[in-house]
Amino acid sequence: MSQISDLSQATCTEIRDAVRAKKVSALEVTKHFSARIKALDPKINAFVTLNEKAELAASNVDGKIARGEDPGALAGVPMAVKDLLCTKGLKTTASSKMLANFIPPYSATVVNRLEAAGAVTLGKTSLDEFAMGSSNENAATGPVKNPWDPEYVPGGSSGGSAAALAARMAPGAIGTDTGGSIRQPASFCGLFGIKPTYGRVSRYGIIAFASSLDQAGPMAHSTKDCALLLETISGSCAYDSTSATIEVPKWSEIIKDDVKGLRVGLPKEYFAEKMDGDVERVTKEAIAALKDRGAIIVDITLPLVKHAVPVYYLVATSEAASNLARYDGMRYGHRTSNITTGSLEEVYTRSRGEGFGAEVKRRIMLGTYALSSGYYDAYYQKASQVRRLIRNEFLSAFESCDVILSPVCTSPAFKIGERINDPLEMYLNDIFTTSTNLAGLPGMSVPAGYSAKGLPIGVQLMTRHFDETRMFNVSLALENALGAVKARRPHVI
Ligand code: GLN
Repeated sequence: MSQISDLSQATCTEIRDAVRAKKVSALEVTKHFSARIKALDPKINAFVTLNEKAELAASNVDGKIARGEDPGALAGVPMAVKDLLCTKGLKTTASSKMLANFIPPYSATVVNRLEAAGAVTLGKTSLDEFAMGSSNENAATGPVKNPWDPEYVPGGSSGGSAAALAARMAPGAIGTDTGGSIRQPASFCGLFGIKPTYGRVSRYGIIAFASSLDQAGPMAHSTKDCALLLETISGSCAYDSTSATIEVPKWSEIIKDDVKGLRVGLPKEYFAEKMDGDVERVTKEAIAALKDRGAIIVDITLPLVKHAVPVYYLVATSEAASNLARYDGMRYGHRTSNITTGSLEEVYTRSRGEGFGAEVKRRIMLGTYALSSGYYDAYYQKASQVRRLIRNEFLSAFESCDVILSPVCTSPAFKIGERINDPLEMYLNDIFTTSTNLAGLPGMSVPAGYSAKGLPIGVQLMTRHFDETRMFNVSLALENALGAVKARRPHVI
């Protein structure tokens, strides 16, 4: 029997410590979470594929412990991994029919690093197809339900990872964030989720959406777990030339909740947006909590962030159109069996027509248009220029503050079906999150409260490039100050 009173509620850190101290075996932990997935996932639909070798991996960790070897910093910690990260020998679909049968011959660096540290990949989680979306409704395996209320979306695109974590089907999860896909689902599901500085985490083996914006990062139930997971997956990688060589601090050991004298910037443009009353109340409570602990609140201005959504949707779709060109049924991906003329073009057209869903097609068309000769200067190039200005604007804002705080989203989770037929409304959902991706800055969602209906709401923190240490410190301060936030549990568990 496990010595942790309730394994389901344990953090990654607690599980790791208990496994290392032989209070519970890694195999017992994995069996516990696998059983929860069997019991709960039929209601949530978070997992696309389960790892049949999870128990074997857990037994290997136990073997190391029995032999007196170091089992690693994540010994026996089960992980839910977004199905956008390649896993050797384990199906990786990007939640697309295009890759329905893809079994990668190698793993993403993130996955390799987790497993080398003793983590156990439990399974692959659902996402909006190719990470395009904000609700997880664009998934080939159907919508994912929010464990806080199954009529609501878990957010997206890392909605499966967020829902798996919120329903305690895994203690830790990995998502990716191109325009908000870690932070928004973390906010909708009551989790900590960090998009690291661009370059902090290797993109090797992560199916590319928009290469200049994509970053992987952890989602977890505490600041410390996020820190532990991020320090494990960060660092330069020979297979990703954009991964930074900068040193990775041992955040899990050095973070402290001291915010005395810290300057917290509130961008006036973010607060001028029409936002839900509950979001406004929760954000103000978080600001007051930091002020109580000695932080200095300063008003800042970021006039160009109003362009972040259009700039993002030009840059992201252009890069996506280019990255997704490889899925033509010949080199990669689903190949049609419905051929009449037998021409190469027919194979391409039908394969892509059958393999991609509506949202992915919409983005490929938008991106192809923005890159086409005659329009390139007006769209892609102009967007790249404004992107640079947005980055510069953040850098000058950080001269008068140390951390920027804002809502993650204008609203809590919305209902399944409510926005799926209005792409523009869905895109506008990304108003607070896309700017950090454009600027390459780190951003984090921290659970801060609930709506009147009882749905979680997070606040967003942003810091300078590679200043995740300060972000974790502020997150810890909020976590400690808003202790009651963590006491509530989703209805499903
Ligand atoms: N919601 C945004 C989009 O649809 C962000 C997606 C992401 O971060 N992967 O593009």
